[in-house]
Amino acid sequence: TTFADLGLCPPLVSTCRKLGFVKPTPVQRAIIPRILHDFQTASNRTTNNNSSSSTSSSSSHLLVLSATGSGKTAAFALPLLHLLSHDPYGIYALVITPTRELAKQIQQQILALGCGSGWKITVALIVGGEDMTRQGLELGKQPNFVVGTPGRVAELCRGGEIGSGGNGRGMYKPNFTKVKFVVLDEADRLLCPRSGFERDVAEILLQSTTTTTISPTTSSIVTGEQQQQPQPNERRIRRDV
Ligand code: AMP
Repeated sequence: TTFADLGLCPPLVSTCRKLGFVKPTPVQRAIIPRILHDFQTASNRTTNNNSSSSTSSSSSHLLVLSATGSGKTAAFALPLLHLLSHDPYGIYALVITPTRELAKQIQQQILALGCGSGWKITVALIVGGEDMTRQGLELGKQPNFVVGTPGRVAELCRGGEIGSGGNGRGMYKPNFTKVKFVVLDEADRLLCPRSGFERDVAEILLQSTTTTTISPTTSSIVTGEQQQQPQPNERRIRRDV
């Protein structure tokens, strides 16, 4: 199987080749066609629903369990870039991951795949320890992707805190209501009660689902380690999305 066989557009296929991705890994073979098919269908249904003001749900959800280093990041980044190239608008996808290092790696990989394909992709990195005012302004420019850690993204959703860069009145509050995809990367760590991320993740998900009269249109991709069984909390969050 090649990347082209999976349904990706020629610019992405040639970028994979340039990056030395000779053939898709098993998780990429399994989920790239699924995301392209299911989520494209979801996107079409969204358009139809909008025009008819239907209230039926138009979101799709995918739970991916695969080991670290198996190519999971490209497995969700490639199809999202493919879909984005057909539908470029606003903040398209929000990726939440437990650590700053992982967030940085994901940002780099999305940029390498997207810019390598000749597209002007923008990816905001929203992590702790960085200037929050600058992050708020960056979000205001409607990047294509937001990749961040739960604490800082949730803090910006609350409008920032006085003295930490935001004005405390929501000036830098991001607008996630039109986000098409939410990816919870390493959800087993994000949703583990001991990690303390649960409340922030739940708060972000509430912000990122459309709350207009039309049904929620945000789709989700949840990834985790292969060895672990989905926890009850994962199922609860997936229903909330
Ligand atoms: P990840 O599991 O997403 O952390 O990916 C681990 C590493 O594998 C990253 O450095 C990727 O650049 C690389 N990678 C992803 N997909 C492929 C592929 N199909 N062939 C070779 N390397 C890959």
